[in-house]
Amino acid sequence: MKQKNILSSQDMERAITRISYEIIEAHRGVENLALAGIVTRGDSLAKRLRTKIEQLEGEAIPVGSMDINLYRDDWTRISHHPIVRPSKISFSVDEKKIILVDDVLFTGRTIRAAMEALMDFGRPSRIELAVLVDRRDHRELPIQADYRGIRIETLHSDTINVLLSEHDGEDRVFVEYE
Ligand code: 5GP
Ligand code: MG
Repeated sequence: MKQKNILSSQDMERAITRISYEIIEAHRGVENLALAGIVTRGDSLAKRLRTKIEQLEGEAIPVGSMDINLYRDDWTRISHHPIVRPSKISFSVDEKKIILVDDVLFTGRTIRAAMEALMDFGRPSRIELAVLVDRRDHRELPIQADYRGIRIETLHSDTINVLLSEHDGEDRVFVEYE
C-alpha cells in the first residue's frame, strides 16, 4: 500500500475556517442554524465548526450527533447499507436549517440515511451538507456537498484516512492506494 498526503493540519485548519465563513455568508448569520455531525469524525468536525463559527459570530449554535456507520469492509462493496443507531439531537429540528457534517462523502448512502433519520425528529426547513473530503465520481445517489474541505479524484478501492487530534493525536488526511 502506498500513501499520499492530502491535507496537513494547517490545511485542515484553513478548511474549517473557510467553511465557517461560507456557512455564515450563505445564511447571513447563524439564526436558526444547527449542525449535526455523523459519528465519529463528522461529529468532531461539527464541534470544530461550531467553535469557529462562535468565534466569528459571537453566537453559539446547537450541535447534535448522528450515529450512522458503514463497516470498513463495506466501503469497497457496491450498494453497502448504512447502519443507523440512535442519534443525540437535543434541540428541536423544526424550522431549523441543519447542516450535516461528515468526514468523507463517498457513495452518499450515509447522508441519505442521515437525512431520513433527521426527518424522523421533525421538520427542518432545510438540510445542507458539509464534508472535509469529497470523493468525486463515486456517488450512487443524487447527493452533493454544499461545503467541502477538498474534492479529490480517487479509485473506488482507495481508502482515505482522516486523522483528527481528538481521536488520533494528530490532524492529517492521507490516501492509501495500491
Ligand atoms: P458513503 O455513505 O458516502 O458511501 O460513505 C461515507 C461514510 O463512510 C462517511 O461517514 C465516512 O466516514 C465513511 N467513508 C467512506 N469512504 C471512506 C474513506 O475512504 N475513508 C474514510 N475515513 N471514511 C470513509
Ligand atoms: Mg463515518
